[in-house]
Amino acid sequence: MRIAIYPGSFDPITIGHIDILKRALEVFDKIIVLVALNPDKKGRFTPEEKVEMIKEAIKDLDNVEVDMYDGLTVSYAKKHNAKHLIRGLRAVTDFEYEFKLAAANSYADNDIDMVFFMARNETSFINSSTVLALHDNGVDVSSLVPPSVMKYLKR
Ligand code: ADP
Repeated sequence: MRIAIYPGSFDPITIGHIDILKRALEVFDKIIVLVALNPDKKGRFTPEEKVEMIKEAIKDLDNVEVDMYDGLTVSYAKKHNAKHLIRGLRAVTDFEYEFKLAAANSYADNDIDMVFFMARNETSFINSSTVLALHDNGVDVSSLVPPSVMKYLKR
């Protein structure tokens, strides 16, 4: 069984994340979406809210679980018999960040590898903070995030 972890901030989950997840499900038997708990990165939503939004957004997808973790993603992966971490790539700036992350991860645990999916044209401009900035300024973001996120944004 090929298990992969899809780690991220997911603050909040967007249709860009969901696109990567669906494509990764073509490659892996099971994927755990992992909300990383990073005390240095204070997000808009609490980890519990993020998990709830993700769970509702993926309820029709088979073989996906959602969890949160405050340690190294590679340690979580090892504990859950996953050898791969999934990440998405948008612009060149993503590449630089992900390249360093991959190097740090392999330094921590060389058995875990990272697998990258290229953003599609339609979703390549979407990131969580842009969505929040648009929403905060009165722009309708309902086609950029799943309905479960819209519910939270309307609160
Ligand atoms: P992090 O803070 O760990 O980068 P994010 O939630 O911002 O967490 O992103 C998680 C992963 O999903 C990252 O690899 C990011 O590049 C990828 N990602 C985010 N938005 C998109 C998108 N629109 N298209 C493709 N990949 C994306």
